[in-house]
Amino acid sequence: VISMPVSERKLIERIRRSVRGGASVVTGIGDDSAVLRVPPGNEVLVTTDFSIENVHFRRDWPAELVGWRCLTRGLSDVAAMGGEPLAVFLSLAIAKDVPQKWVDRFLNGLLDLAKEFKVPLAGGDTAQSTAGVQADIVVIGSVPKGEAILRSGANPGDLIYVTGHLGAAADALARLKLPKPGRAKRVSAQLSRHRPVPRIAIGRWLRQRGIASAMIDLSDGLSTDLSHICEESRVGAEIEAGAIPRAQGGTQKTLVALELALHGGDDYELLFTSDPSVLLPSKVAGVGVTRIGRITKSRGMRLLTNGRARRLQAGGWEHFRGGK
Ligand SMILES: [Mg+2]
Repeated sequence: VISMPVSERKLIERIRRSVRGGASVVTGIGDDSAVLRVPPGNEVLVTTDFSIENVHFRRDWPAELVGWRCLTRGLSDVAAMGGEPLAVFLSLAIAKDVPQKWVDRFLNGLLDLAKEFKVPLAGGDTAQSTAGVQADIVVIGSVPKGEAILRSGANPGDLIYVTGHLGAAADALARLKLPKPGRAKRVSAQLSRHRPVPRIAIGRWLRQRGIASAMIDLSDGLSTDLSHICEESRVGAEIEAGAIPRAQGGTQKTLVALELALHGGDDYELLFTSDPSVLLPSKVAGVGVTRIGRITKSRGMRLLTNGRARRLQAGGWEHFRGGK
């Protein structure tokens, strides 16, 4: 599956060594295609996500974190369907001026997460790019037939929940962009502490119990991702500002700004809806689950602050642009 110039043999060797067969991979790297085995009675999930330098990340961010997040984007999409990841494929284009060490660290981060979820890297491609780093991650997953949790199943009256806390990544990134000398390193370390964990276990838990009527992962920000559920389900939503579980920001133990929790991206938590008759525990798989609002019949999104309603727009995270 992998083809590349001889000079990049080191990279293929690295990836090859990292490949663990796993029950789902019949044949991985070394043939023209990977051969995967899908559990009987299951359907296949496929998701693909770009991580592009100066669009999704900057090269002066910790490379391990960039690799970790690259795979998080894919695994989180599988979690959002209630699925299980089967195999990962990585296509990587790297410019000549990218140090081997950066690539090694990127792969370390990506493989750390793959190992944690016991999902094999079963193939990919590498090439030389004309500038910067472009990574495309493909995750193949499976879900029992007919049980994938879609964005389109929310009903008026359903309650809206999110997992974990929101806004930590956006808060760290906002700081990283501040042009204060000496600060980058500290914030970089802070950013590294926010290694998002794809919520596979929660997605599975919800799917097995048939609890979620609709679900999406929070990659672009709560307001944007909620708007996707509203569009696909042809409903509206009402969110309680005070109920949004905000992450702790910075080095001080203060909560991140509401704006960051509402519109910041890269949280990789799950947003789901459920019939109001369903009682949910306050934690699932060790992670907090918080009710933040409800689905309405009237379209559009509203934000309630102390009983006052404002129109909520999909103002989610614009991926980082430009090298400034
Ligand atoms: Mg998604």
